[in-house]
Amino acid sequence: MYAERMGKLPPYLFARIDELKAKKIREGCDVIDMGVGDPDLATPPHVVEELCRAARDPANHHYPSYAGMPGFRQAVARWYGDRFGVTLDPATEVLALMGSKDGIAHIPEAFVDPGSYVLVPSPGYPVYRTSTLFAEGRVYEMPLRAENGFIPDLDAIPDDIADAARIMFLNYPNNPTAAVTLPGFFERAVEFAREHDIIIVHDNAYSEISYDGYRAPSFLATEGAMDVAIEMHSLSKTFNMTGWRIGMAVGNREILAGLGRVKTNVDSGVFDAVQRAAIAALSGPPDCVAQACSIYRERRDTLVKGLRALGFRVEPPKATFYVWMPVDDCMAFATRMLDEAGIVVTPGIGFGSGGDGYVRFALTRSTERIREALERMEDMGL
Ligand SMILES: *Cc1c(COP(=O)(O)O)cnc(C)c1O
Repeated sequence: MYAERMGKLPPYLFARIDELKAKKIREGCDVIDMGVGDPDLATPPHVVEELCRAARDPANHHYPSYAGMPGFRQAVARWYGDRFGVTLDPATEVLALMGSKDGIAHIPEAFVDPGSYVLVPSPGYPVYRTSTLFAEGRVYEMPLRAENGFIPDLDAIPDDIADAARIMFLNYPNNPTAAVTLPGFFERAVEFAREHDIIIVHDNAYSEISYDGYRAPSFLATEGAMDVAIEMHSLSKTFNMTGWRIGMAVGNREILAGLGRVKTNVDSGVFDAVQRAAIAALSGPPDCVAQACSIYRERRDTLVKGLRALGFRVEPPKATFYVWMPVDDCMAFATRMLDEAGIVVTPGIGFGSGGDGYVRFALTRSTERIREALERMEDMGL
């Protein structure tokens, strides 16, 4: 019944966990879900207000422009300039997205021919792989190893693969490992892209979620990056707007034009009222982001301290709202956590074979719930 390419999609490894979670909830268990990467915090009120206002204005009720309204693209360019020191031309170097997933899911359609390679971090956000497979490209996994700071070893990629590759996906601050980039790595990536004629798609969804004074850079601030790269960004994690579906692709204009051409054939742009609300978020006071980070930091410290007291080896992340923890058998660990303690964590193998041997905790639950989770783990005898 299904097309052949559907058979190439990776098995959905969370199915067993999902089933078990549904069963626990049916049985009346008070499940603590630290599996989902979806902020529990609310969208800032001034953003919600702007959506309400804009939704009432009939001028916003029509088909939006494909690339995004000029005001939104200008707000993105201004935000990139202020925040990252990256200069963008709003007319050609900014494209509105229905969340960054939209851009990640469609970029291979524009640049990947059947049989050509896409370099995908493992572990990594699952859509890098599935979008490659939908475009009938081949996935080459770049393992992210703890001993390399979860940075891929570009010199380990065979020359023939690199020459046959069209896109490399990168993502720092990283989901799921919570790693940040290392000095010199972005420069090396630009050089590698030049040598092998590869497009770099950097996913910067977590740039604003960081701690202890760390400030994540934009890939586009790297010298030469505007020649070879685009960056996917999003309001989802920064402003607690996952449900709103708004993000942006920025960077090299020819690469963006290719993505834009695919999208004009797939969707009809982002609701203008949502774009207006996004302008309010990007142009508004930045203190709501700082507040969210301080909440995540308290949760991070509670979780890391508690896990260490239980004897686990775990590092406090500098960025993202995840804690990535080594365990013996990730599926067995996640299943036992859910079955015996009613706690959902994500088994690392779901992010690719490089995630085997880890589980991911999302800091998207309150400090009290995290304390409760730690008590249950202690009672389990973990
Ligand atoms: C959450 C997430 C995204 C997608 O976010 P959107 O809501 O589609 O903007 C993209 N990449 C990574 C790594 C993420 O964790």
